[in-house]
Amino acid sequence: MKILVINCGSSSLKYQLIDMTDEGVLAKGLVERIGIEGARIKHDTTGKERVVIEEPMNDHKKALELVLGVLVDKEHGALESMDEIGAVGHRVVHGGEDFASSVIINEAVMNALNKNIELAPLHNPPNIMGIEACKELMPNTPMVGVFDTAFHQTIPAENYIYPIPYEFYEKYKIRRYGFHGTSHKYVSLRAAEILGRDVKDLNIVTCHLGNGSSVTAIEGGKSIDTSMGFTPLEGLAMGTRSGDIDPAIIPFLMDKEGMTFDEVNNMLNKKSGVLGISGLSSDFRDLEIAAEEGNERAKLALQVFTNRVKKYVAAYAAQMCRIDVLVFTAGIGENSDVIRKMVCEGLECLNIRIDNELNKVRGKEAVINKDLASATIMVIPTNEELMIARDTLELVK
Ligand code: AMP
Repeated sequence: MKILVINCGSSSLKYQLIDMTDEGVLAKGLVERIGIEGARIKHDTTGKERVVIEEPMNDHKKALELVLGVLVDKEHGALESMDEIGAVGHRVVHGGEDFASSVIINEAVMNALNKNIELAPLHNPPNIMGIEACKELMPNTPMVGVFDTAFHQTIPAENYIYPIPYEFYEKYKIRRYGFHGTSHKYVSLRAAEILGRDVKDLNIVTCHLGNGSSVTAIEGGKSIDTSMGFTPLEGLAMGTRSGDIDPAIIPFLMDKEGMTFDEVNNMLNKKSGVLGISGLSSDFRDLEIAAEEGNERAKLALQVFTNRVKKYVAAYAAQMCRIDVLVFTAGIGENSDVIRKMVCEGLECLNIRIDNELNKVRGKEAVINKDLASATIMVIPTNEELMIARDTLELVK
């Protein structure tokens, strides 16, 4: 079966067409600037030259119409007809407490998604728009929703309840949900597969370090704690997000700087993290170069970032008694030997010993621990699209 995987952002749409007979990618692409001037699609069919389509796209439906058009295009496409698409898998950011696994999308699911908008006001609406567009353009093709939060629904209450009045959990469902679940699940399963072990026998800590970053403790294949919380703002310091801060800083700044709620929210999400500390960039490539050249604030930003990863890894080691496997994934985790080294240094007490030579890898699967006595340290490129396609196949089969 051929499965189309769709990931809609507010003005973007990422897609991959995967042939599930061998899990090969037939085509993939990115639509940018939907609803904005200068909209375009960058489309790659495997084995063919890239095609760029520049055309006004007022909404996600128009974008998807053009994507489906290029997928069946005689010259640039990968399909004879749209009927070859057996199912569509949609990435959905927030499933709330309603979804602990992926689901076939039906009326009841759409109602639950709409109900969860208030939990993810920035992310869920574009996901819903993508589903609605697909329903209109491919009314007879089954669709599956795969949630970023679902993998973390196994987290026990003592790790998801916040120490604020319990009534706010009952009233508004304020609790830890966790995100990047599809990625954490994929790399943990892949780690077990590479090691030839049953994931049920392993305690794994997965570090998804990208623009947004989170760390997850996975015991016997189940997420038992994760660093992101009610929203993707909690946990690690990120590119532009603060992660954990003393909540008292917020009213203090509102008072001293006369900041409004929106301004504080914007500051914590867009102007903080390593960008905020360095005053330079949210991109770790820029920061590593600047730190190398002696920029003290870039150095400090990298130290704050890696120290926080270290703290979470150590906290999760304490929760699970031991770590068998430590996995690095996503843009930074897959590519930056500098960050991996900084995270691992000082964790020898937890039996984490990185090999500086093996660590010199970029963007491919590798085992990078020093010796057999150490916990296994791995680099595993994430593949959320494949995970979504697998779940989709499983449900529509
Ligand atoms: P992601 O959100 O997973 O796409 O990750 C994007 C981030 O990965 C970028 O903002 C960069 O900071 C980081 N990144 C990508 N390549 C490298 C690299 N070679 N070295 C350090 N950081 C990198």
